[in-house]
Parts: sequence; structure tokens; C-alpha cells
Amino acid sequence: MAGTRKRREVPKPELRCPTCRAELERFWSYCSDCGRHLDWRDTQKETGTECYYCGWMVSDTFSTCPWCGRNIEDVHSSPEPLKKPKGFKYDRRCRWGCGGGVMYPMRYCPWCSRPEKWRYENYQNICPHCDKGVDDWMESCPWCGEDATGRDLIPRALRRVRRLLVVSRIKPWNYRVLLRPGVSGVTHYAPKVIEVERRYVTGKRSRDEISWNMLTGLILHELGHSFLFHNWSFTRTDRFRRAFGEVRKAYRVSDSKWVDFEMRGVTTTLPNHVTAYAGTHPQEDFAETFRYYVTRRGRLRELFSEFGRKRKGVPVFEKFLLLGDFVRSLRGWR
Ligand SMILES: [Zn+2]
Ligand SMILES: [Zn+2]
Ligand SMILES: [Zn+2]
Ligand SMILES: [Zn+2]
Ligand SMILES: [Zn+2]
Repeated sequence: MAGTRKRREVPKPELRCPTCRAELERFWSYCSDCGRHLDWRDTQKETGTECYYCGWMVSDTFSTCPWCGRNIEDVHSSPEPLKKPKGFKYDRRCRWGCGGGVMYPMRYCPWCSRPEKWRYENYQNICPHCDKGVDDWMESCPWCGEDATGRDLIPRALRRVRRLLVVSRIKPWNYRVLLRPGVSGVTHYAPKVIEVERRYVTGKRSRDEISWNMLTGLILHELGHSFLFHNWSFTRTDRFRRAFGEVRKAYRVSDSKWVDFEMRGVTTTLPNHVTAYAGTHPQEDFAETFRYYVTRRGRLRELFSEFGRKRKGVPVFEKFLLLGDFVRSLRGWR
């Protein structure tokens, strides 16, 4: 075409991890899949400058590296804060009021060197290690490189849960335990994600302050919800309905305000439910039944003699027999 300049085609850089090929977002510090440390060099020659210390792409107008925070001031550095130097986008002004522009997700202001903060709106959770945004199925936090779920903070509880499931002969169903601020629970739209209120863990000064019995009980209770979601057709059988009732009542499964999951003893308050909390909703009833079943390693005879002493009614025995039969039937199918 005469008169118009032909645009040169520039290949778009591939945003994939060089080690595992998982997709990345630009300027993540770590691959969210394999945890590899990432370098964002100026491979496309956008600015012609890389930080002398960390090697990431910078502008020669910067006086601080926005990635590692070190002083990179030299004769090219702009004496005044700029809004948008070449190669960088303007997302907002520096939160400290220096007047310069900053781009997501810069850690430091390139003009005044003070730390920047970002709202991580497009993420499902916040990292229990660095409080930045992570997604539920990420392995490593893209910002700090630690376990994005916080499972590394509760190894003792998870080990116990895994062992109890094995001896109860319940196969794992690809569930995922993670720490979440403000809530413990399982939602029907993410039935394999077991949320554990992170204050039980991250608010403690030392691991000795964590109540491992409570955490184990809580996780087993939530696993009960997840197990039921995973085997939802079970809830449509007549025997299930007779034992637990209609589980499809409108209801958000959330256990921020519960009960004593630490307790292993059967309570005497409600004759037809294993615990008082089990009486709040059929789904809670199942989750509590599941928790006791697994905590007691599926040994029903032992449990039933306790039910007898605690004057539990026939419905409680039937719930446990039903769960026991169902667990056995799953082993037969797989
Ligand atoms: Zn990777
Ligand atoms: Zn740097
Ligand atoms: Zn600034
Ligand atoms: Zn992190
Ligand atoms: Zn519950």
C-alpha cells in the first residue's frame, strides 16, 4: 500500500516457565507451578537496560530498581519522577506521593525507592507467607516462592489426617487443603478445596501454640463435606435420605463459628446426632459423622459401645453403618 508504512511484526514473547512450561504472568518472581525463580530480562530490547544487581528489566531513568529495591542511580537517572518511562506502563501514582508513576506489580517506587503495595483482585486467595495474591491451585506463590496453600505450615495435622484416612480405608479424592483468611469450609462450587481459617496457624507465635488436635478435627470435618460433594449421588439414595435427610437445603457450608472439633468424645446432648453441631443441618450431620468415623479409624464396634453408654438413638448407629457400607462399596468399585 502506497503511502502507509508497513508495520514490522514483532514476535510476542512467550510467557511460559522455561523449566515446566506452565503459563506465567509477566514480572512474577517465581513459577506458580514448579517454583523456579524467574528473571525478567530485557530480551525484547524495550529499554536497553537491566538492573546491575538482579538483572531484571529497568529504565535508565530510574534511580531505584523497582524489583530488587537497590539503588541504581547514575547520570541517566531522571532528576524528577516520571509518569511513564519507555518500556513501562502507567498503572497509578506512587502511593507515597512522590509524584512518579508506577506499574503493577513493582515492589518499590523507581523514583523514591519506597515499597509499593498492590491490591490482588484477580486472585482467589492470599499467600499465607507474604499476603500477596495467589490462586487456589497454585503450588508456589509467584511472589515469594513459598507453598501458596500454606500446607507447609500444618504438616503435623495433614500427616495425621492422611494416616487416619488410610486406616479408615478411604482413598484420597484429590482434595486440596489450604489456609484462607476469615473462613473455614468447603463450597459447592469448589468442592475439593478445603479452606482452613488461617488465623489458627499464622496468628500463632510458635508451632507449639497451634492446637493440632483441633486442626486435625477441623480438617476431617471439612473433608466430610468435600467427600459428600465428591460422591453427591450417594445423597440421592433412599437409605441416605432416611438417615440424614434432605441435604439440598439452601445453605453455605462455612464453619467459622463452630464448635469444638477438638473433642473426640461423643456428646450426650442430642440423642439422634453424634454431636450438637451435627444437628444444625444434614450436611453438618454428615460431616460430623465422617469426622468421627475417620477419627475412630472406621472401628464401628468400639464406637457403638460408646453410643450405647451415651444413650444414642438408633438413627446415629444407622448413619455410621451407612457410611461404613458406602466406604466399603467404594473400595469394591475401584
Ligand atoms: Zn515452572
Ligand atoms: Zn534489581
Ligand atoms: Zn515514589
Ligand atoms: Zn507468597
Ligand atoms: Zn461443616
